[in-house]
Amino acid sequence: MPDVSSGDPAGFDRYGVIGYPVSHSRSPVIHQLFALQTGQQLRYELLQVAPEKLEQAVRQFQRTGGKGLNVTVPHKTAVTDLCDQLSERAEQAGAVNTLAFQDGEIFGDNTDGIGLTRDLEWNLGFPLQGRRILILGAGGAALGIVGPLLARRPAALVVANRTRDRADAVVKRFGHGMLSACAFDDVPAEAPYDLVINATSAGLKGETPPYPDAAVGAGTLCYDLSYGSKPTPFMLWSRDQNAGAAVMGWGMLVEQAAESFHLWRGIRPSTAPVLKQIVVSA
Ligand code: NAP
Repeated sequence: MPDVSSGDPAGFDRYGVIGYPVSHSRSPVIHQLFALQTGQQLRYELLQVAPEKLEQAVRQFQRTGGKGLNVTVPHKTAVTDLCDQLSERAEQAGAVNTLAFQDGEIFGDNTDGIGLTRDLEWNLGFPLQGRRILILGAGGAALGIVGPLLARRPAALVVANRTRDRADAVVKRFGHGMLSACAFDDVPAEAPYDLVINATSAGLKGETPPYPDAAVGAGTLCYDLSYGSKPTPFMLWSRDQNAGAAVMGWGMLVEQAAESFHLWRGIRPSTAPVLKQIVVSA
């Protein structure tokens, strides 16, 4: 007898990703591959929801038996208000990328930071300790990665944002001596950074903001949180600056998804084969 309370005719547990826009998301493919690999039965949906409908959509998903949601641009900070409980890392970030619905309550977690540091250190062999790091952007994704990056003890961490106030707010939130804020045209660049992370959503709209040229040199790794089947505008800009290397955020996407999957299902999938598969099929 199928479990009709789950809202799924086959009785599969339901998950999804909520965002605006969300059609570009590869999370459904990744979670289906994890499910296949670990023998779990679940469905994973795309929920395109405008900011003013966020609460209604989350509560409806919960009411109809949904088990968990990933949260993407631009909802990561707003969704914290809907959570009954937050993990320590979500509390620290003030941003949530994973919701788990349990016993009528909403638990919020943030797996973005661990996803990024695992990709950089484990997959790309780029140790973070002692590095000078620049983050471009101060939205929900930037909030999620600052804490885990600081925990790796970089030499400096600068947050630059189009809207300076938002970068200031990130620094105030974390209150760490290694962290500073500035606007794009104000980036301290006495020497190129070891790592420049694009955490803006500009690429989603095909835009290339005036990123700070002097921040990039031959020894810089440019890492775009955004990803696509073709090089993103930030990747193209990085190559124009003769960056040492430029990569898209596929690895982070798979690593953060694995951490969400672990939270939801209690099983940690193996990420390497899934990463290989989604990059090849992009
Ligand atoms: P968000 O909360 O909406 O923040 C957007 C950020 O982008 C803000 O800092 C905003 O600056 C900046 N921005 C947008 N358009 C811009 C433009 N034309 N010029 C300069 N700055 C611009 O979004 P988010 O949740 O942080 O997500 C950011 C990006 O990271 C998205 O593309 C998302 O897909 C990606 N992401 C990827 C992963 C992964 O696993 N690979 C994980 C998380 C996020 P203002 O403050 O000035 O508006």
